[in-house]
Amino acid sequence: MLSIKNLHASIDGTPILRGINLEVKAGEVHAIMGPNGSGKSTLASREYEVTDGEVIFKGKDLLELAPEDRAREGVFLAFQYPVEIPGVSTTNFLRTAVNQVREYRGLEALDAVKFLTMMKEKMKLVEIDQKLLSRSLNEGFSGGEKKRNEIFQMAMLEPSLSILDETDSGLDIDALRIVSNGVNLLKNENTATIVVTHYQRLLDYIVPDYVHVLYKGRIVKSGTKELALELEEKGYDWIKEAVDSEA
Ligand code: ADP
Ligand code: MG
Ligand code: MG
Repeated sequence: MLSIKNLHASIDGTPILRGINLEVKAGEVHAIMGPNGSGKSTLASREYEVTDGEVIFKGKDLLELAPEDRAREGVFLAFQYPVEIPGVSTTNFLRTAVNQVREYRGLEALDAVKFLTMMKEKMKLVEIDQKLLSRSLNEGFSGGEKKRNEIFQMAMLEPSLSILDETDSGLDIDALRIVSNGVNLLKNENTATIVVTHYQRLLDYIVPDYVHVLYKGRIVKSGTKELALELEEKGYDWIKEAVDSEA
């Protein structure tokens, strides 16, 4: 589904990603972990200047697609810091977004009744309050409400690939539960998820098939869930030391 090859990227001329290789197949959950500043959010956001390498999603060059076209192709990106859009309710925002995606996929636009039916179904799935959906998108939302809303958007857009960048701290136990329930409920053999996290605890809820450690812009170690547990126990220093002594 997703193939990242030798991705090098810079921000303001500073190399941040320095040769990322990652293969994600349908049905898989990958966790990207790593110390602060290692490039996790950069990798998830794609707000950078690519200097080498490629990112292929379902046979298409993702780097060539505008953000809205990536969304239409079925890539969902949940930001570490979700944007607020004053004056636009989640409902209106999503109605436009869902119908754009449907049009792109050659499906009929949903009329008001069908859209509402879909909303109700997905609202139940992620346990979100309808009142939240009629308010301006993310404006004045608490951290937990933003997370819930993000997962709701993901449920509505039915992406093939979801990339979730979690805050390094401040995710309370409710937010963790919401994010992980959503991800687990939407998981099937046709979808894939990449979860970016600084801490192991999220992975108690979302069990990853693969865990990758990002350090200094490279994936320096890959493993299974056991690697995340090892990191929880030992921290990142042993990995940093091994990489730094090689350099
Ligand atoms: P992580 O999510 O792993 O904590 P980030 O991807 O946020 O790491 O950051 C990786 C590196 O890129 C850090 O050294 C950070 O300071 C740098 N960086 C991120 N955004 C910018 C920016 N807009 N301008 C310059 N440097 C940046
Ligand atoms: Mg960070
Ligand atoms: Mg980050």
